[in-house]
Amino acid sequence: MTRPFTGDRLLVATHNQGKLEEIADLLKPFGVAVVGAKEVGLPEPVEDGTSFVENARIKAHAAAKATGLPALSDDSGIEIDGLDKAPGVYTADWAETETGRDFVMAMEKSYRLLVERNAPQPWTARFCCTLVLAWPDGHDEVFPGVMEGQVVWPMRGDQGHGYDPIFQPEGYDVTFGEMDRWEKNKISHRADAFRKLVKGCFDR
Ligand code: IMP
Repeated sequence: MTRPFTGDRLLVATHNQGKLEEIADLLKPFGVAVVGAKEVGLPEPVEDGTSFVENARIKAHAAAKATGLPALSDDSGIEIDGLDKAPGVYTADWAETETGRDFVMAMEKSYRLLVERNAPQPWTARFCCTLVLAWPDGHDEVFPGVMEGQVVWPMRGDQGHGYDPIFQPEGYDVTFGEMDRWEKNKISHRADAFRKLVKGCFDR
């Protein structure tokens, strides 16, 4: 049995405005007011976990403890089988430069390593998203979401963000970068995790 969410205010442990809006939209039907980490002046905790669950737990518990509110966090990334599941929790780190994030560089790195390793094709991969809802008393509920697919090259499409132009989801012949946002948001790893969160904690 998962613990139901019974409050009317939820802290979303993210400094990313896009994620905050997506979560607020999703929880609107349940009468939940969503508050962002920036709004309440929360610092960004160090994400030094070695799995999506660990990192999501770090963020959610830090926020719940600091605010006294239930807090929801999300940690995500891409696992490429031919690279022993890298970049995984380091997905965002692969894009880090002195002047900000460069995802073209990160996608080129993924491709270069696959070629250098002579990884057999198709280059199977998956996007993962773990949502954690944590309460101030230390309890939490964990909801993992996955979208299987493959890495393709060259990059295709200019929709979406991050690694979308090199990820072709299973059963489709277009990349996430070629899909419109609405379609992607129906099938994505995040949508999968959200469905489980709603079923587990918000459907009353
Ligand atoms: P996080 O914000 O620390 O969870 O970092 C997740 C990283 O994974 C982001 O920087 C994105 O590059 C990547 N990522 C997660 N979900 C997606 C997606 O749906 N499309 C493309 N990249 C994604």
